[in-house]
Amino acid sequence: MTEAWRPDGEDERRGASGPVKVRVPAKVNLHLGVGPLRRDGYHELNTVYHAISIHDELTARRGDTLTLTMEGEGTGELALDDTNLVIRAAHALAGYAGVLPHARLHLRKQIPLAGGLAGGSADAAAALVACDALWGTGLSRDELAGIAADLGSDVPFLIYGGTALGTGRGEAVSPVLARPTSWHWVVAIADSGLSTPAAYRELDRLRDSGAAGTPLGSTDALLGALRQRDPRVLARTLGNDLQDAALAMRPALADTLKAGEAAGALAGIVSGSGPTCVFLAADAAAAERIAAELTTAGVCREARVAHGPVAGARVV
Ligand code: C5P
Repeated sequence: MTEAWRPDGEDERRGASGPVKVRVPAKVNLHLGVGPLRRDGYHELNTVYHAISIHDELTARRGDTLTLTMEGEGTGELALDDTNLVIRAAHALAGYAGVLPHARLHLRKQIPLAGGLAGGSADAAAALVACDALWGTGLSRDELAGIAADLGSDVPFLIYGGTALGTGRGEAVSPVLARPTSWHWVVAIADSGLSTPAAYRELDRLRDSGAAGTPLGSTDALLGALRQRDPRVLARTLGNDLQDAALAMRPALADTLKAGEAAGALAGIVSGSGPTCVFLAADAAAAERIAAELTTAGVCREARVAHGPVAGARVV
């Protein structure tokens, strides 16, 4: 997309005169412990979020109204109206800061829709960071995370990135202190998405009928593993309470998980509410091999390599 810069006095206003570009990562849950259903319709979570190097990019420009355009994953499928989390995020920030919600936003999407990688939440986090810079509202990350919590349970994490513990309904985030290690992942993207509320409902149903696995419980083993540098140790501690629900809704995911492990992955889990599966690899070369094998095995639409942890939503 090319367009002329318009010298219309923007420099004299607060904020950025030129376009602001923000990169935001996808997330996986290394541990997703799901507690009981709360009265507000959410489940109590005990989770470890991890930001990985699959990114969406949001560009914000000055405008006379609020508009959103997009390219990439989900184009033509994703509504670009007031129901879109990006638009809702821009309105929420403008309301909080007392400014007009005027911007032309353009999203380049690489994170698949409804994939269990928090793509929509990532875009909302990107919109908060981009509009904050464009409008010169100058909020702190903690203030942005406060606004983010009302937009979705995992939006605050995408403001921070890295690896973090999530409690409450997932919106209460605190960083995990770990050795500066880069972990290598293979991300197997499915042909179509799964609904997050439906996955939680399916887990409740499985639990009510006694068909669910034992809940994961504490994050201690995983947090201990993150302090070491050995991916084999980390592999033994990955877990997701929503995995049984995702497998019940999409039985073919069992083949994807098996194929990843047969290809040499140290462990494979469903990411969040699925259907994306993530595999831990011993190193970057192993990740490339596993991704190639998964692609030829025909058990996913696409397998991509990624590493983590990476930073949250950032102006680039
Ligand atoms: O917070 P968010 O809007 O992303 O959540 C989407 C849906 O996922 C919720 O409406 C709820 O059905 C389910 N959910 C849940 N417990 C959580 C987070 C999400 O049941 N902790």
